[in-house]
This record gives sequence, C-alpha cells and structure tokens, in this order.
Amino acid sequence: MGGDTSLGSQALFSGEGGMQSFGNGLYMLQLFANICMIETGEGVVLFDLGLPIDGPRIVQEMRAVTELPVCYMIYGHGHADHAFGTRAVLEDAEERGHPRPVILAHENLPGRFDRYQRMLPYHEHINRIQFAIPEGIPAFPWDYIYPDEVFREEMSFTLGGTTFVLKHARGETDDHVWMWIPERKTVCASDFWVWSCPNVGNPFKVQRYALEWAQALEEMAALSPELMLPGHGAAISGASEVEEACRTVARALRSLDDQVVEMLNAGKWQEEILHSFAWPEEFAASPYLAPIYGHPCFVVQALLRQYHGWYDGNPSHLFPAGSGEIAEQVLQLAGGPGKVMEKARKLADAGKTQMALHVVDFVLDAGEGPHAEALELKASLLEDLAAKESSLIARNIFLGGVRQINKELGKE
Ligand SMILES: [Zn+2]
Repeated sequence: MGGDTSLGSQALFSGEGGMQSFGNGLYMLQLFANICMIETGEGVVLFDLGLPIDGPRIVQEMRAVTELPVCYMIYGHGHADHAFGTRAVLEDAEERGHPRPVILAHENLPGRFDRYQRMLPYHEHINRIQFAIPEGIPAFPWDYIYPDEVFREEMSFTLGGTTFVLKHARGETDDHVWMWIPERKTVCASDFWVWSCPNVGNPFKVQRYALEWAQALEEMAALSPELMLPGHGAAISGASEVEEACRTVARALRSLDDQVVEMLNAGKWQEEILHSFAWPEEFAASPYLAPIYGHPCFVVQALLRQYHGWYDGNPSHLFPAGSGEIAEQVLQLAGGPGKVMEKARKLADAGKTQMALHVVDFVLDAGEGPHAEALELKASLLEDLAAKESSLIARNIFLGGVRQINKELGKE
C-alpha cells in the first residue's frame, strides 16, 4: 500500500490544506469533494467543480499556483458536490480577459440538472437529512450552469500536447465520467473511487449501478495508472497501489452483484437476501471499503431495486392495510399499549435496540397509549443506534429521527 493509504477513510470529507501538487502539472484541491487541476503549457483543465460555496476557494487556490487560462471544466458527474463551483471560475476568466472555459459533461447531465430544478424542495429535504444540514442553510444548489458540450461513450481532446480522454460509465450516477491522461499516467476517478464502501444504495436517491461501477474500475486498473485522484479523500500513487485500490472495490461490488443475482435465480425474496448475503473479511477489513458513507446493506438494496420489482414475495403485502390499523390489532392482542411499552423497555435493556424499535413503533403507529413516553424511548433507541453506526448516511438518518421526535415533543 502507498503512503497515502495510511490516511485511510478518515480523510473522506477533508477540507484541509491547499492545492496539493503531484508534480508534472497535476494538482488536487481536497475540499468536501476533490477538484483536480491539470496544467499544460497552453492552459488549465479542471475536473470536478465542487459545491456551490467552493467556487471562490477553487479560484483562490488555483491562482496561487498558475496564471494560465482555464480552457476546460469537466463535470465528473452532476451531484451537488461536483458541478457547482463553476460560476466563480467563469467570472475569474472574464475578469482576466481569458476566453470563456468550455464546460464538458456526459449527455445525461443536463437532464439531471432539469430534474434537480424541478424537484428542488424535495432535494433540499432529503439532502438536509442525509448530511444533517441545519435549517436556514441551503441544502441544495440553486445556480445551474449547464455544459457547453456533451458526449455519450467517450471523447478526447488535447491541450498543450497533453491528451485528455473522457470515459462514461454508469456508477454512482447515470452521467458519470472518469478521465484518463495517458502522457501523465493519471486517472481522475470522480466518485467511482472514494475512501468508502461505494455509495451504490443511497437510501434517498435514484438508482445507482454496482456492476457497471465495477467494470469502470477494472477499466481504470487495466490502464496501469501511476496516480489516481479520487472523488473524495487522499490521492493514491504507485501503479500497484492504484490497481489494488480499483480492483478491491470492483471485486467487492461484483461479489454483491453475483450474490444477489444467484439468490434471485434461486427464488429467494428481498428479506432473505438482505439477511443472508456475505460481506467477506477481505472487504470488511479493507480501508478502501469502510462502511463510513456507503454501506454493503445499501448496495444490496440497490441491486434488488435494479433487478427486481417491489413485491416482497408475501401476498398479504400486495395491498397492505395501514401500519396504524395493524398496530391497533397487535396492541389489543398484547393487552394494551402499557404491555407493549413494557416489552419494548425490556428489549431495550437487553440491548436488543432494533427489536425494541419495532415494538415501540406499534404504540406510536396505533396512536394509543403513552405517546410522549413512547417517543422518548424511540429517541433514546435511535441515539443508541447512531452512536454505534459508522455510516454517515445511516447515522444522520437516526439522528434526523431524534430531531424530528424532539420537535414533536416541543424540545427544539
Ligand atoms: Zn461526491
């Protein structure tokens, strides 16, 4: 493993440090997401453009290193943290009297931008939960700068004698692009590679693509890059280190994909698959796959959604009664909400947090009995889960639940 890997996953969302140089005109600015800068004799190429708030910082850090014009800006994909620091770079070019940089992206990116603007309140809402963004701070971009040119499978251009090859594959998004710079043996991976179990099955977001993600990583590895600039976290240098990083993550994704396909072919349904897939030690122990953002369970959920409909195999669930009505029946059977609360507390005391949550939910869903008491118990159970949870997304969902309960209880 290269020296960089010792930083491990802790550096996933680092905003520390300035423009890091790797020699040969290759730079990376590590903010919430990474911005890659490649300098040639004729000008600069920027790959990935950060969050809306990152624009001025990108210009400042870039101008501390080079006076050359920015000729191309490439959106690695259309997510909020990769395509929105653009305006500041365009303004910098105008102020300096440089030609306007050309913005390149995959052909699916404009449709993504259209969807984001159509569903802005929805994306504000889910991103606020996913990243625990306080009220009053924008949780999603509102300023959209569309690409000037788009491509489907592959495109390339040269600048200052350097070749830039843009490749599309579906991965975290359907508009994902990675960039290969052959003369400099460097790959800019965007979110095809981050220091985490790939975020294939984000609980809030549209379909993502595990198998094609793995294939893209294998294609990168086959080029024997000597430097990989990932979408988040530290760079990885050394041909064998980059290859190992790419192939380990690809193997993990293929393993989950194979398992889900095999179990579906064997006639298994979602619940059984979710409770019986394997996550071998090779992956569980790998710093490349730590479940600090994405999570193997979420990957399996995404694979199920990709290959499978929503029917869970139980005809009782095809047109289900409301959970409130079901809970009323359970409460009656159990001898009332007091008995159910008692059971929930016993489970909680025995450390069976998840089961305690299911039981206390009967009281809350039925809307009968000690509502505030049930909410208090649920909040403390969610706090327990959050304290033990390594995935930032899962943790923020638990803590978002706690905040929601506190609001309901008038505590916030
Ligand atoms: Zn990202």
